Amino acid sequence: MDVLLANPRGFCAGVKRAILIVENALKIYKRTIYVKHELVHNQYVIKKLRKKGVIFVEKISDIPDNSIVVFSAHGVSKKTKEKAIKKKLIILNATCPLVTKVHKEVSKASEKSIETILIGHKGHPEVIGTLGQYNNENSKIHLIESIEDINKLPIKKNNTKLNFFTQTTLSIKYTQSIIKSLKKKFPYISGPKKEDICYATTNRQNAVVKLSNITDMILVIGSKNSSNSNRLAELGRETGVFTKQIESFSDIKEKWIKNIKYIGITAGASAPEFLVKQVVEYLQKMGAKKPKEMLGTKEKIIFNIPRYLTLPSHLKNYE
Ligand code: SF4
Repeated sequence: MDVLLANPRGFCAGVKRAILIVENALKIYKRTIYVKHELVHNQYVIKKLRKKGVIFVEKISDIPDNSIVVFSAHGVSKKTKEKAIKKKLIILNATCPLVTKVHKEVSKASEKSIETILIGHKGHPEVIGTLGQYNNENSKIHLIESIEDINKLPIKKNNTKLNFFTQTTLSIKYTQSIIKSLKKKFPYISGPKKEDICYATTNRQNAVVKLSNITDMILVIGSKNSSNSNRLAELGRETGVFTKQIESFSDIKEKWIKNIKYIGITAGASAPEFLVKQVVEYLQKMGAKKPKEMLGTKEKIIFNIPRYLTLPSHLKNYE
């Protein structure tokens, strides 16, 4: 069995930044760090941080006054931020800068009373945070998840003050088809030149398509609540290649790989590389050859953390 590793795969710049913010905050403040929602959607990352003393909460009201709170990479609504300020919490913002960019644009649309459509998944924390940037009594933001939702929108066809934004981790192909239908229905709608789907989502989806051309099975490493991992698994299935999404090597069933000659591996933007290594080791135990890394887009993007959270040198080797 040949093993091919997708490139790029795994951690994106936003996830790396969020984890670094929390790890450095633990070392600098030496106090309990509360995180609003899961910092990133991966159970191994969350477990590791929990062991270091991080407490994950869903509600700001669950955090004692004057504590330290980190907003997760998915971002929060304006109301959540206001609640944190009211409780005199020290806020460390780990929202991915690419999500913040969408927040700012939605907030601007709200100020200008531009009716807004957000394409995204209902209930996803990023979507809740983005919807929560819009606060205008005379105008509205609407969430749509599919082409079918477009016809249910209570918006006039010839509305000239209308725009759209998207969640950052959607399927490129499906989102483009939604946008096409939106533009057909609302000829005056404006929006970003490209959808707001981020570089990491785009590159990982393109890599899965490449993988699907040369493999007869794809393993996607990523938690069930990870939107971008779910999209990778969906895409793998759409290409017609037998695809399975796993949390770790222990989910792999021997019967899946019985007659497989070329197996591809990828990992969602919140899945750490050690999980990929474990899968490779497991497959090698089952007789696979040494893995080959596919050629792919080089990602050079780095998102800096706030200067006050960079570590003084005496703390850098502290574990
Ligand atoms: Fe940011 Fe994209 Fe990573 Fe989400 S997947 S944290 S938007 S870079």
